[in-house]
Amino acid sequence: MKIYNTLTRKKEEFIPLEEGKVKMYVCGPTVYNYIHIGNARPMIVFDTVRRYMEYKGYEVNFVSNFTDVDDKIIAKAAEEGSTAEEVAQRFIKECKKDMSGMNVLPATTHPLATQEIGGMIEMISKLIEKGYAYRSEDGTVYYRTRKFKDYGKLSHKNIDDLQAGHRDIKVTGELKEDALDFVLWKPKKEGEPYWESPWCGGRPGWHIECSVMSRKYLGDEIDIHAGGEDLIFPHHENEIAQSEAANGVEFSRYWMHNAFLNIDNRKMSKSLGNFFTVREVAGKYDLQILRFFMLSAHYRSPLNFSADLMEAAKSGLERIITAAENIRHLQKSAPDLELTEREDALLKEAEIYTEKFEAAMEDDFNTADAVSAVFELVKFSNTNTSADHSKGYLEKLYRQLLTLCNTLGIIIEKEEEMLEDEIEELIAKRQAARKEKDFAKADEIRSLLLEKGIQLKDTREGVQWKRV
Ligand code: AMP
Ligand code: ZN
Repeated sequence: MKIYNTLTRKKEEFIPLEEGKVKMYVCGPTVYNYIHIGNARPMIVFDTVRRYMEYKGYEVNFVSNFTDVDDKIIAKAAEEGSTAEEVAQRFIKECKKDMSGMNVLPATTHPLATQEIGGMIEMISKLIEKGYAYRSEDGTVYYRTRKFKDYGKLSHKNIDDLQAGHRDIKVTGELKEDALDFVLWKPKKEGEPYWESPWCGGRPGWHIECSVMSRKYLGDEIDIHAGGEDLIFPHHENEIAQSEAANGVEFSRYWMHNAFLNIDNRKMSKSLGNFFTVREVAGKYDLQILRFFMLSAHYRSPLNFSADLMEAAKSGLERIITAAENIRHLQKSAPDLELTEREDALLKEAEIYTEKFEAAMEDDFNTADAVSAVFELVKFSNTNTSADHSKGYLEKLYRQLLTLCNTLGIIIEKEEEMLEDEIEELIAKRQAARKEKDFAKADEIRSLLLEKGIQLKDTREGVQWKRV
């Protein structure tokens, strides 16, 4: 399996630190709003990397954080008259809803920055001890960038060029030794959340979060660290400086970065107004289509979001789902016979598509080619399935298609929708429980229905329900 490593700018063979295991960290979103479809790209791309690794038999420890304390969160809380914690908790919940809609698996661990402050204080103390960090007069702790000899190795920037870029910028009020030094800990401002520390009451800088959470949940050395390409510099460069100075070993073997998502061929940004949240897209399309659209391009190519491309993704996905439904339909009345020689030969022929799929994924996760292999299998299946085929043959072909789609996180097997009769029956049971004052049971039925996508509303005219 080959992975393009930003560190070496080459495709390299993937060799895990520990056989059969993958330790992977993906920088997660700052939660002050609904996530936008740009944020969705790394989620979908790296979830697919994880799924492929699992398909290959690796045990994947997948960690992805939520940045739940930050200037933007604090500003949003001030605007709403609530607290940073309330804002962060709300949007973490909303983000998880969107992730589930896009069929992004929950991480093994989703650490929260605010729950890991102790570890951050520990790492910062260690960096100070080793001479890589210092406290300035006002209590801010800075990283001494020039002391880290490898600074710039990920972004391929020369430290003297960086210094030259900084020379003209005069930052008032900052008490750094050097313009390149970055913040590890900053003093609190009036009305902001803060934690006590040996330097001042305050909060951590953004970069230290990921170094600490990655180390806590995955160890000093990890296999893959990933995120969008805007994170290469300074975020990931600074993470390397912190982690390698503190731990004394290479932080991550492979660094993966997805390219940006654009809208109508222009960079997606709030200021241009060409900006969509995942939730907005969900109002128009099943989020499976968004996922399928994202996978239609290689993750290192810029991808353009447009109505036309979403429509194309929609019909492409429908083609796959229809083929799957056809096989399932034929299976129901297929004869339960031994596989014929011809059927064996056909299944053997179909294996080519799994081989093509794997070859594409092994080549730095070329999901565009992997999707093409799935389409070829769909075509094969449409021309080589009929009512005369045996159950066993159809079952095998269906499994093959299902496995490839599952590996891409594409759902072709929808849970059966609840029938109206079943819903009415449960509502009647709930009414009976209420009559008997068994409110626990009544609530239980209400939650069960909600889990299945049915929301109840008690009105004067009786109980009403709707699908949500
Ligand atoms: P943020 O909340 O801005 O830190 O972003 C969370 C993740 O989304 C990071 O990995 C970013 O690199 C990524 N990201 C943000 N905008 C885009 C975009 N337009 N296209 C692709 N990835 C993005
Ligand atoms: Zn990070």
